[in-house]
Amino acid sequence: MREINQLHPMLRKKLKEMYAVCKEQGLPIGIGECLRTVEEQNKLYAKGRTEPGRIVTKAKGTTYSSMHQWGVAFDFYRNDGRGAYEDGDGFFAKVGQVGKKCGLEWGGDWKSIVDKPHFQLPDWGSTPSVLKSKYGTPERFIRTWPAGGWRFDGKGWQHRRGDGNDTKSDWELIDGCWYWFDQQGYAVEKTWVSYKGNWYYLGVCGKMATGRQTIDGKLYHFLEGGEMETSSPIKPGA
Ligand SMILES: [Zn+2]
Repeated sequence: MREINQLHPMLRKKLKEMYAVCKEQGLPIGIGECLRTVEEQNKLYAKGRTEPGRIVTKAKGTTYSSMHQWGVAFDFYRNDGRGAYEDGDGFFAKVGQVGKKCGLEWGGDWKSIVDKPHFQLPDWGSTPSVLKSKYGTPERFIRTWPAGGWRFDGKGWQHRRGDGNDTKSDWELIDGCWYWFDQQGYAVEKTWVSYKGNWYYLGVCGKMATGRQTIDGKLYHFLEGGEMETSSPIKPGA
C-alpha cells in the first residue's frame, strides 16, 4: 500500500524532511511501498519460492517479520527519468546519506539482503523482534501512535493537530520549528511570507529561517523570532 499517511507519525515527519532535502540536492525520489498488509507480504514472500522471480524478502506475512507491516518503513525509487532503480552513479547511496542525516536507518547498510531503496525508523532495532514481543501485532502497535501529525495528499504536506483539525493560514510550532500554513493548510516551502508587517522565509521542508541565510544568492538576516531584519533588502525575493 502506497499510503504515506498510514505510516508512523515519526516516520512521516522524517520522510517529509528527507524528501525535501533530496529534491533540493538534485536527487528527486518517489515513494513506493509503505505500510504492507499480511496478504501483500505473503505475495512478496512467495516470489522466488512458490512463485517465479528471485527472492526479495526473508519475511513471511503471518509472522509480521517485515518492518513494512509495522508502519515503520518505506521504499523509494529514483524519479528523475533515468529509470526507477538505475544506480550507475551511486544515486541510492546519496539518498541513503540524506536519509541517515534525517534520522532514518537505510537498508543499503544491511549485510544479508542489501536493500538500497528501503528506509525505516531505527527506534526498535533493525528487525521487528522488539515490536513483536512488545506489542504482538501491528494493530496493537498502531493503536499506541500519537494522533495527528504530518499528512501528504500528493500535492503537499498538511499538519493535523491533536484536536483533529489542520492548521490553516497560521503558524504552528512543530518539534521545535515554526511552519506557516496557507489557506488550504499546506506548509509553504522556499517561500516568503509577509505577516503583521514583517517578512519571514520558510525554507526547504517549510522550516522558518532564523539567523544568516543566503536565499537566491542574496544574504539575509533573520531575528530569533524569524522576522527579517530591516537592514536586509526590503523586497525579499525581488
Ligand atoms: Zn522496504
